[in-house]
Amino acid sequence: MALLTFGLARDQKALIPLTRLRSEFYRLPEDADLFKRRVLKKTVHELGHVFGLDHCPDRTM
Ligand SMILES: [Zn+2]
Repeated sequence: MALLTFGLARDQKALIPLTRLRSEFYRLPEDADLFKRRVLKKTVHELGHVFGLDHCPDRTM
């Protein structure tokens, strides 16, 4: 069983655990704006997988 860390997209569904996107997880002060930006970026990333995109081969994305 794979460890689900930041997100998963499979069979046209995506799952995004929110805990690790929160600054508090890393013992940093709460930052609501940063959390919203992370959720947005992660959502766009996983939707890319849902629509068939893979990671960039040079791992910049
Ligand atoms: Zn990905």
